Amino acid sequence: MRLYCATTNAGKLREFCLAVERFGEGRLDVEALAGLAGIPPCEETGATFEENAAQKAVYYSAHAPGPLFADDSGLEVRALGGAPGVVSARFAGEGATDEANNRLLLRKLAGIEDRAAQFVCVIALAERGRLIRTFRGIVEGRIIDEARGPNGFGYDPLFFHEPFGCTFGEASAERKLLVSHRAKALEQMVAYWIARSTA
Ligand code: IMP
Repeated sequence: MRLYCATTNAGKLREFCLAVERFGEGRLDVEALAGLAGIPPCEETGATFEENAAQKAVYYSAHAPGPLFADDSGLEVRALGGAPGVVSARFAGEGATDEANNRLLLRKLAGIEDRAAQFVCVIALAERGRLIRTFRGIVEGRIIDEARGPNGFGYDPLFFHEPFGCTFGEASAERKLLVSHRAKALEQMVAYWIARSTA
């Protein structure tokens, strides 16, 4: 069985493929939707991860030859009232680099003791322009004061995960996948799709 995926983010795609390999036990594979760059981008106007993921999945599935999933994810920081949340990718402005987003986050947290944060990932599954379901995964951590580690992407080097004793930037992709928000959401989606397809 094949699921199409609508992302141009190489970091996310890598995690999706690894996770589906693990949870799908060889019964599922993921393929990035071909020609994604040629499709006018889907607007992300939702106020929640669920709304944005569903918007993207519904839109891109109309261009896919089979079921397709899309995700919306981000970082929620408790002391910032859940920011950057749905604007995580463009926290420091449209087209901002990871470094600029990380710098802004640290500026906003300067002098604040409460560093609790969580990554959230919502995956929406759709087929031929119709939403099937959404799946949500969360992982908790705290924001440290300086970037650590070369791995991952986005806010990973600032996200300290207590059970690991290191940041996601210091953890390998395989290790991050044991606990990540994206892996948890994907695990639910894969279980759902396999159960549905074999029912
Ligand atoms: P999206 O592409 O709209 O889902 O934006 C997600 C943004 O949230 C990314 O560009 C990152 O800034 C951040 N983000 C989401 N998941 C992760 C993760 O696993 N590690 C680090 N940053 C993440």
